[in-house]
Amino acid sequence: MSLTEKVIKPNDPLAFLTSPRTENKKRSIAERRADFDEIYVKKAEAELNEQAARCLDCGNPYCEWKCPLHNYIPNWLELVKNNQLDAAAELMHQTNPLPEICGRVCPQDRLCEQACTLNTGFGAVNIGAIEKNVSDYALAKQWRPDLSDVESTNKTVAIVGAGPAGLGCAELLARNGVKPIVYDRYPEIGGLLTFGIPGFKLEKSVVKQRRKFLEDLGVEFHLNTEIGKDISFEEIQSKSDAVFLGMGCYKSVTGKLQGSESAGVIKALDYLIGNVNQQQSFGMDDYAYFDLKDKTVVVLGGGDTAMDCVRSAVRQDAKQVSCVYRRDKASMPGSPNEVKNATEEGVNFMFNKQPLEILADDNGQVKGVKCATTRLMQVEGESRSRFEVDESENQILEADVVILAFGFNASPADWFEKNKINTDQWGLIEVSEKVTSSEVKSQATSMEGVFAGGDMVRGADLVVTAIAEGRQAAREILEYLEV
Ligand code: FAD
Ligand code: SF4
Repeated sequence: MSLTEKVIKPNDPLAFLTSPRTENKKRSIAERRADFDEIYVKKAEAELNEQAARCLDCGNPYCEWKCPLHNYIPNWLELVKNNQLDAAAELMHQTNPLPEICGRVCPQDRLCEQACTLNTGFGAVNIGAIEKNVSDYALAKQWRPDLSDVESTNKTVAIVGAGPAGLGCAELLARNGVKPIVYDRYPEIGGLLTFGIPGFKLEKSVVKQRRKFLEDLGVEFHLNTEIGKDISFEEIQSKSDAVFLGMGCYKSVTGKLQGSESAGVIKALDYLIGNVNQQQSFGMDDYAYFDLKDKTVVVLGGGDTAMDCVRSAVRQDAKQVSCVYRRDKASMPGSPNEVKNATEEGVNFMFNKQPLEILADDNGQVKGVKCATTRLMQVEGESRSRFEVDESENQILEADVVILAFGFNASPADWFEKNKINTDQWGLIEVSEKVTSSEVKSQATSMEGVFAGGDMVRGADLVVTAIAEGRQAAREILEYLEV
């Protein structure tokens, strides 16, 4: 029976039994490997209705609690079930300024869908795919929220960084009549959504479409503008009523491996930005393009960034792509779905391997990675297993190119100290220990009228948590401005 033939009984509490969860359909592996386009196929409206109808409306929605934005998930699933997609899109936007993006890049298997009551053997409701498809549908027909009641407050807020944190803050301010002026050093908005996450997870046209949406709401973008270089912090501060900092976390962890200065050793973000710069013709001179065709590539690391690198290298037609990770598959910090996608696309995973040294030839060109084997040990009271390195079983992996994807540390700007914006021992911005009236941690910095959020506060994390902090800061800014 096809989906359109299936009769969905309204308010059938057992719909989850008659309609199993449908996994998101992917393009064929051969097609995926040949381009950087998104791999998931659009869901038909009938499938969205049917999948939404599986929600139990359990009364205490764990999915909603687990979502860092506390999206009204059961409520919008009910609207989707009844084919009220415009109303569902409206409700999605009340808590999330980037639902089509979160639907694509959130690790739902660790967040909302993991918490779904049906994820106990029945298959979680396909929350992320529904969020993505419904928002795509609304945006494609130029849907905009009705803000005709919003009166201008004549206040402006300067926002440094057009990543998820900055955009999350800007959208909520605009909805409340405050003018957000967003500065970013890059030529397009999105932060790591544009200059990190590759097109096969998030096509760049999606971010551009969201830029138009935000501009229609009154958000003003000043791109190719680095605060502290092109304009001083003092200048933007003096021209606005408050400031929000959402500048991310950009210092690559190198692992201090001997040989990492060799030619052919690349930092993950340099590689990924070089790709997007070339694909989108951004003309950023500081980012070289690395063509990995026919190369033997070894990526060191096991998180989302490593997965994006291995899958990009496959698409560049590398001869062989291996991912070296020091723990086992179950301990990988990245989303299991992304590991599955990478495996399907032909990536060779090498678990329980600790890189010891990068080896180079006489010309200083990388030729391999020396690795030891690791053994995991479970220590009582610790959730994450420790590992010990056994150097008696060393192995040399051949490589023309080694990509370092060990993660990111804070990259505080040199103007923070002068402007009394305190950072902690790791260089992350210190936000106030005070708890706000809604019992949420405050995003206020040590400098009055300056707020911060996202990776530069919490360390490298997720798109959805950066948005949540940007929105929390916006709420506090509205309180601070007494509007
Ligand atoms: P960013 O996105 O880093 O944005 C900060 C912005 O500030 C940048 O645009 C930067 O140019 C700008 N900026 C910095 N300094 C200045 C200055 N002085 N003047 C002007 N502008 C400035 N998370 C997920 O949830 N799912 C994923 O699949 C996922 N994949 C990832 C893949 C990669 C390769 C990486 C690196 C991260 C990934 N993440 C993922 C993490 C996620 O992208 C980040 O947690 C999120 O983007 C943080 O948002 P942010 O706004 O704090 O910072
Ligand atoms: Fe799930 Fe992310 Fe959407 Fe929240 S924002 S409902 S965690 S996909």
